[in-house]
Amino acid sequence: MNVCVPELLLGLDERELVDSSLLACRVHWQILDPLLFLVERAASAGFVLKVASSYRSFDRQLLIWNNKARGLRPVLNDAGDVIDMNSLSERDKVFAILRWSALPGASRHHWGTDIDVYGSAHIDPEYQLQLTVAETQGDGPFAEFHRWLDDELAQGSSDFFRPYARDRGGIAPEPWHLSYAPLANIYSRCFMQELLREQLEKTDLELKHVVLDNLNEIYQRFIVAD
Ligand SMILES: [Zn+2]
Repeated sequence: MNVCVPELLLGLDERELVDSSLLACRVHWQILDPLLFLVERAASAGFVLKVASSYRSFDRQLLIWNNKARGLRPVLNDAGDVIDMNSLSERDKVFAILRWSALPGASRHHWGTDIDVYGSAHIDPEYQLQLTVAETQGDGPFAEFHRWLDDELAQGSSDFFRPYARDRGGIAPEPWHLSYAPLANIYSRCFMQELLREQLEKTDLELKHVVLDNLNEIYQRFIVAD
């Protein structure tokens, strides 16, 4: 089927998704086998690979966005401190949220091709996952796993890649975020600013007028990923 269907790109259509009970996640059916292969490769290197986040719908992302904009969910600065949202202009609020959260409709998690992973030789069931860079480096609990993943991805033995590996001044680095290139690259090419604008215009989005007024800049800084 044609993947350039607006509803598939925007997280409004779940027909291509499957549930993995083993991994407790929901992904596009085409990435399930490659993902299970990656899990096996990790296991043979002594790591348990877990999926923290997979498919996310437009409505779910909308709720996250609106809760952050309304101050019901914390928004952090680069140092990891909670920002006092009331002290910011509306424009600054939008960009503060975008540092860590995608605009509804513009999350790669809408495609089912992208996952957030963590892994360790032994994961303490009591451990509270944070998904921070510190966890993946130095003596962080997932540092060893990420060193293995670096090698695994560099070798090209899987088609996953890290779209947010580096800080380009838009989205903060997310070494745990993996994307299945063969499919995600197609979605990425299909995605268009006008599609997003049309969807947001008819959505009950907090700070909507600021988002729409700045959509071109947002699109260049936070959405167009090479
Ligand atoms: Zn992610």
